Amino acid sequence: MTLTHGFEFIREAHVPELNTHARLYRHARTGAELLSLENDDENKVFGITFRTPPADSTGLPHILEHVVLAGSAKYPLKDPFFEMVKGSLATFINAMTYPDKTVYPAASTNLQDFYNLLDVYADAVFHPLMTPEKLAQEGWHYELDSPDGPLTFKGVVFNEMKGAYSSPDNLLDRTSRRALFPDTTYGVDSGGDPAVIPDLTYEQFRAFYQAYYHPSNALLYFYGDDDPQERLRRMDAYLAPFERAAVDSAVALQAPFDAPRQARQPYSANGDGAAPRAFVEVNWLLPEYDDPALVMALGVLADCLVDTPASPLRKALIDSGLGEEVLGGFSTYTRQMTFSAGLKGVAVGDAEKVEPLILDTLAQLAADGIDPAMIAAVVNTTEFQLRENNTGRAPRGLGLLLRALSTWLHGRDPLAPLAFEAPLAAFKAALADDPATLSGLIRRYLLDNPHRVTVILEPDAELARRQEADEAERLAAAHAALSPDEARAIIEQAADLKRRQETPDPPEVIALLPSLRREDLEPRHKPIPLAEHTLAGARVLSHDLFTNGIVYLDLGLDLSGLPAGLLPFAPLFGQALLEMGTEAEDFVRLSQRIGRTTGGIHATTLVAPVRKGPGARGQGPGEERSSLEPGTWNLEPDSGALVSYLILRGKATTAQAPAMLDILRDVLTTVRLDNQERFRQMVLEAKAGAEAQLSPAGHVLADTRLRAHLHPAFAVEEALNGVSQLLFLRRLAEEVERDWPGVLARLEQLRAALVARAGVIANVTVDEASYRAFEPRLEAFLAELPAQEGARGQVPGSREERSSPGTWPLEPGPFPQREGLSFPSPVNYVAKGANLYDLGYSRHGSLAVIANVLGADYLMSKIRIQGGAYGAFARFSPNAGTLTFLSYRDPNLAATLRAYDGAADFLRALDLSDAALTPAIVGAIGRIDAYQLPDAKGYTSLVRHLTNETDASLQAYRDEVLGTTVADFHALAEVVARVAEVGDVVVLGSGEAMANANADGVGLEITKVM
Ligand SMILES: [Zn+2]
Repeated sequence: MTLTHGFEFIREAHVPELNTHARLYRHARTGAELLSLENDDENKVFGITFRTPPADSTGLPHILEHVVLAGSAKYPLKDPFFEMVKGSLATFINAMTYPDKTVYPAASTNLQDFYNLLDVYADAVFHPLMTPEKLAQEGWHYELDSPDGPLTFKGVVFNEMKGAYSSPDNLLDRTSRRALFPDTTYGVDSGGDPAVIPDLTYEQFRAFYQAYYHPSNALLYFYGDDDPQERLRRMDAYLAPFERAAVDSAVALQAPFDAPRQARQPYSANGDGAAPRAFVEVNWLLPEYDDPALVMALGVLADCLVDTPASPLRKALIDSGLGEEVLGGFSTYTRQMTFSAGLKGVAVGDAEKVEPLILDTLAQLAADGIDPAMIAAVVNTTEFQLRENNTGRAPRGLGLLLRALSTWLHGRDPLAPLAFEAPLAAFKAALADDPATLSGLIRRYLLDNPHRVTVILEPDAELARRQEADEAERLAAAHAALSPDEARAIIEQAADLKRRQETPDPPEVIALLPSLRREDLEPRHKPIPLAEHTLAGARVLSHDLFTNGIVYLDLGLDLSGLPAGLLPFAPLFGQALLEMGTEAEDFVRLSQRIGRTTGGIHATTLVAPVRKGPGARGQGPGEERSSLEPGTWNLEPDSGALVSYLILRGKATTAQAPAMLDILRDVLTTVRLDNQERFRQMVLEAKAGAEAQLSPAGHVLADTRLRAHLHPAFAVEEALNGVSQLLFLRRLAEEVERDWPGVLARLEQLRAALVARAGVIANVTVDEASYRAFEPRLEAFLAELPAQEGARGQVPGSREERSSPGTWPLEPGPFPQREGLSFPSPVNYVAKGANLYDLGYSRHGSLAVIANVLGADYLMSKIRIQGGAYGAFARFSPNAGTLTFLSYRDPNLAATLRAYDGAADFLRALDLSDAALTPAIVGAIGRIDAYQLPDAKGYTSLVRHLTNETDASLQAYRDEVLGTTVADFHALAEVVARVAEVGDVVVLGSGEAMANANADGVGLEITKVM
């Protein structure tokens, strides 16, 4: 046997559809397997994966994931991971705990940066500094200020999971998995149940690490255009200290149930206000991921059933009126795959009706067959997605790693799930052979499969109080059992932990981390190709980029100058265009046509502040706010402060592109908006979707709300996508019942106002030759749109709306300077900030570097490491001038605001050497140069064009980033001190925490959101 750098070659495969050569190796001495994917993708990815099946719900694998990244033998910093987040060019950097595995992936397009990240990660996983203090900080610990004071729990994961468990969607996922796999490791929670996390001991923690974080239990992965031999050489060096170990980490198969089961789980809901609603989900256990053709078939089946508006099971659930939004889908990340379907927003008394409805619908589909047009649409969409391989912001190599792990983790061939041409062809052949093939799958894997669990999540107004009482009781008992010596020890340990946390890493320790030098950074801004055209009187932009035969088209409809009362309708109106049907087709046929002939069309909104400067439409900086009452914004189109568009984003092969234009023409000129029932369904779905965002995206919502106080662009963004939109959707749901003609009239006004060539901008991303072939088609399409806006300002009453009180004002009225937005949540999302341009500061690239340092060094230390919150951020908008501080899943409120107010002192006292400043510049450049696939580049160019951002202005900004000095930090300190004095505050989270903070003088005006 010949070894290459200690690895023996096992097998290889060429995967032409991924333009990739795959080689599988085994490290001879330790047994670690290595999957090497070689191709020309510059966005290189590595991943180190361990099988980490937990035996209980203490969250051990999850806490370990945090601790491993918080200091290692070679890099004994407090937080090397966040130092690399701050100071590398990583295009992806994270770690993920799954129910059966822990994955440590990172990506970069810069080779040296890639190796630096690998070095930090490899040392982290194989040589972490495991100490009781790290478990205390990241997992849980007792805190006690004085022997008589209250005993409390603290810990990052403890608070992270409290937040996760308070999100019903998240809780439903966990409950369903546990109910479906009661006898395996999936029957416990790898993330950690907050009620169980404090059972975890340091001994268990250490033993788990030693058992599973061993090369013999590791799966190593590389992807991209780096040298394949060097992958082996480097990994062999990292594995050198280890010998082979016997690791028993196999995930057991769940034995099948004899009969279907039911499980009930309470979730925390407010007792008052709207009627409490249940979540119901029916879950099935499917086979292992063995046969790629079967996986393909089950994926197509699941999409046919629930993925599109036309999907028959989705439609039956929605049409039943039993609930607000459909749940479920096909999933392959557990050893045995699963399928689920259900409804959220179900009246408690109707919960038992959902399962029979699902089973009856499936039985009918098995008997009658699924509409061939539906199947054709899903097959085309599936094929398009596989070929396009558009992973959005995530690197393509990461998606392939996760796909490979679905077999690899369980000891089977990692190459099998990668190729898709053969399974796709096999599925198409099976379908041609037997058009009822999906009906057979419904019978075999769903109807005749007794391994089924129906999970009902029931609202419980008392749950939060009960959980708090249980925790208080547990803490009181623990407190009572403490001897005076033990109490003193806890006080000392907590104080000691605080001291360690507050002591910054010495510069010589930070300097151990590998970093790029400033000379390694590209000094030149890299322009995105852009050509401007006028076709049929409409503005058109094109971007000459290689897109592998796909035309990306963004069609923008100008929202500026709309009566404020119509503005909040824009997101739903965009969805209505695509999901309500036209004069010639109902929405099912329309949805099938979109699936059959395109790669998808969806609606989104683009709202952005405009850069002041040469060519800007507006006046000087800082004038919008000062001339107006606080919280009221001048939204006139010529104010020049912002742009706002509704955008239809479509993609199609060059051959399909004309058919995509036909669809856009049909929906824009012949959409039928008068289907009250269909619109009602869409409003309820949107409302349920917005409610589900409160917990996972609380920091984004708090930030958007706060920035709405500070710049008109964000006031519009907030009305369209923030808490205001949720409040709007609630009222709209009532209005649709009470005054449908009034709602319909507004939708028609919107159509008349928006669908006009003069307000349209088309943005096309495709190579130049394909654009030239497409251009005449696009011109013909634009020529068919009405030349003038039908009605803007001429619809009776519409102009007066801004001043007419009561009906659909831009929500909300003037914002209070300190706002609390409450919903049932045990943790908070705390935001404070100001518009620096109002405080006399002007745009400068150094702020990107300073915000990076404020977030990664100051806030991360104060809010996460010391405060126990899951996350903390500083965000700066160069065009608007807003600087905002945010926390995520934060147990504190007033203390967090005090920490924000200390930012100026931190900046003043900062003594950064050039060596310490460089990583912050590297990270800022990394964010500016974030890796983008061609469609994202084209869209970015559109945004820049609309916001008066030019290649010259971007180059100037980049020069400022690269030239940042410590003097810039000190200069900003005085402005940040003013933020502490005059800044606005928004807190989203626990109403009780807000009331307590107000008792301390925080002064929030509280609105109940849920
Ligand atoms: Zn975590």
